[in-house]
Amino acid sequence: MQQLVFATNNQHKLEEVSAKIKGRFKLLSLDDIGCTDDIEETGTTFRENASIKSHYIYQQYKLNCFGDDSGLEIDALKGEPGVYSARYAGEHGNHAANISKVLQNLHDEKNRKARFCTVISLIWNGEEHFFDGTVEGNIRTELSGTEGFGYDPIFEPEGYNITFAEMSMDQKNSISHRARAVDKLIDFLSTTSGL
Ligand code: IMP
Repeated sequence: MQQLVFATNNQHKLEEVSAKIKGRFKLLSLDDIGCTDDIEETGTTFRENASIKSHYIYQQYKLNCFGDDSGLEIDALKGEPGVYSARYAGEHGNHAANISKVLQNLHDEKNRKARFCTVISLIWNGEEHFFDGTVEGNIRTELSGTEGFGYDPIFEPEGYNITFAEMSMDQKNSISHRARAVDKLIDFLSTTSGL
């Protein structure tokens, strides 16, 4: 089976993407290839950050790889937290603090429209290709559910009356921003590598 590096150590993301790519590629994480470097996300767009991750791995290891960057855009907050989703409240990856800040900033706000976005940068045989995915939804006024990660407990996807954190991984994986971008990635790999 061909190998493909996913430039992340986020277990939730690895599980979500592995579930989709299963049986087609052996997905390797940064840990799997022995990469312990902290790849800094210095870009100002999802596309730039995804590209920084994939280029870093390709330059160091010369392996087919992809990086992703994702985040939550809230209309009433002019697109915030956007590329700063992981560190909205300061400390990187403090999901509880990030959620509190969103709920505080949206206090009394009627317009709760938001979307999750993902951009994937794939480097396949030395060439870069981009794939994106979004899912529209609304920000709840309170947390609900314990599955998933990040902003999942306050994000209710359009057409559902439960949050991402109340969905099974399979259900989230059938509609999420990342799943939609990964589907495009898989389509590309199917035609290019004859999966
Ligand atoms: P990353 O840069 O792709 O790791 O994502 C940045 C941040 O966006 C994460 O730390 C989360 O706060 C948020 N995020 C991205 N995808 C999701 C998701 O599927 N559910 C909830 N939060 C997410």
